[in-house]
Amino acid sequence: MIRDALQGLEVRDDDATLATYGHDESDQGDFKPALVVFPKDAAEVQQVVRACNTHRVPLTPVAARTGKSGGSLPIHGGVSMSLERLNRIIAIRPEDLTATVQPGVVLGDFQRAVEAAGLFYPPDPNSAPSCTLGGNIAENAGGPSALKYGVTRDYVLGLEWVLPTGELLRAGRQTIKGVAGYDLVGLFVGSEGTLGVATEITVKLLPKPNVVMTVLIAFTDVLAAARAVNAVLLGGLLPRCLELLDDVALDAVKGKGVPFPAGAGAVIIAEVDGTTEEGVFAELNLLAAIATKHGGLEPQIAVDRDQRERLWATRRMVSPALRELQKYKFSEDIVVPRSRVPEAIERFKAIGQELGLTVATYGHAGDGNLHTNVLYRSPADRPRVEQALEQLMKETVRLGGTISGEHGIGIAKKKYLSLEQSPQLIELQRRIKVMFDPLVILNPGKVFPDEH
Ligand SMILES: Cc1cc2nc3c(=O)[nH]c(=O)nc-3n(C[C@H](O)[C@H](O)[C@H](O)COP(=O)(O)OP(=O)(O)OC[C@H]3O[C@@H](n4cnc5c(N)ncnc54)[C@H](O)[C@@H]3O)c2cc1C
Repeated sequence: MIRDALQGLEVRDDDATLATYGHDESDQGDFKPALVVFPKDAAEVQQVVRACNTHRVPLTPVAARTGKSGGSLPIHGGVSMSLERLNRIIAIRPEDLTATVQPGVVLGDFQRAVEAAGLFYPPDPNSAPSCTLGGNIAENAGGPSALKYGVTRDYVLGLEWVLPTGELLRAGRQTIKGVAGYDLVGLFVGSEGTLGVATEITVKLLPKPNVVMTVLIAFTDVLAAARAVNAVLLGGLLPRCLELLDDVALDAVKGKGVPFPAGAGAVIIAEVDGTTEEGVFAELNLLAAIATKHGGLEPQIAVDRDQRERLWATRRMVSPALRELQKYKFSEDIVVPRSRVPEAIERFKAIGQELGLTVATYGHAGDGNLHTNVLYRSPADRPRVEQALEQLMKETVRLGGTISGEHGIGIAKKKYLSLEQSPQLIELQRRIKVMFDPLVILNPGKVFPDEH
């Protein structure tokens, strides 16, 4: 019995625990595990993984359950393994510009600890107050500042990693540079809990920028806003963030956050950082001038920390506010080449209109990563919604894009993977999975399309 093999570990199987760990933020449904185990260190993680192999029981790693693609859902039941007790910041090394953490550390706590040391860890998914470094590694999470600073994978140097068969190894390095051997860290980051379990993570840090300034610029329509985003980047500027909200997103947050100028049909929020006030202010003004030349209305500069925070709070409000417009929604995270963003927005709106559905688009327009949301009022609309999502994915791939920029494939998008990747490429990845996990114990049923 699996339970006997987990003796000595913290195990729970009461209804409330099973319900909690059977749910995440992906809207993919509820899947209860048979039990949840809470290891306290890497040795206990190994014990759990070995027990599941011996007893042929599916095992799902789970962190803060903020995932949007269903990666932490135990779709085949079995054991869910929460990494939340591995929650120590082991070291922050200002001189080396590195830090080592356990996977259950909450990202927001880590960012604050790093900043207190005068340093900066840029990956900034909007779920930072609750998501964990372990979940970020698994999904290769990114956020608004990815435009300038990149995503989680760009910061992970080394991993302590428990393989799906229970062996513990160290991959990567502790130094900023290093090229020895294959890049297994690159493979493990973004493996969505299917190729092993992170028990320790070493990341690169940067010096903290002294000055950050933010501006909101409204436009009468979303296409003008999208073109202005490109004009800013073509103008030789690389802001830290360039976010876009379309008319539906603006409607959703109207009256709840910062006020928008009259006539606003879309806004961009741009943020610039650097070393001196004068330099950053000059860059922000240049950016605003380019945007104004391309149809931007009067720019609203956030002059202090409070105003910046209110702007970003409004941006973070968009996702829950859209659900208040209509009860149900699917939130996608597609990416298209930046030059195709205006065309993509236009096409997605047209798909919605053709099917009688509301489509909202907002997100990280600066790097082409759009959160296109399909809203609907009742489960009876689901067939039309499925049609819209499939068309949206096809259109994304046609425009040279990818079906997921940050949320991962999980179960939410596995049926679309073959729109983007060839059968040979999917087969190669399946073979890699089986090489690491011959019994397919770890997080089965994720990422790849179901086989008939
Ligand atoms: C309001 C909101 C805003 C969001 N904004 C963003 C955003 O801006 N950018 C973005 O990228 N994402 C965003 N997300 C999605 C989500 O927060 C990220 O995918 C995040 O990285 C998930 O972390 P988690 O700790 O919640 O992991 P979970 O959801 O619990 O798990 C995610 C995956 O990680 C695996 N896993 C967990 N721990 C480990 C481990 N130690 N080793 C190996 N695998 C492990 C799980 O099996 C699962 O496959 C958002 C979500 C919400 C709800």
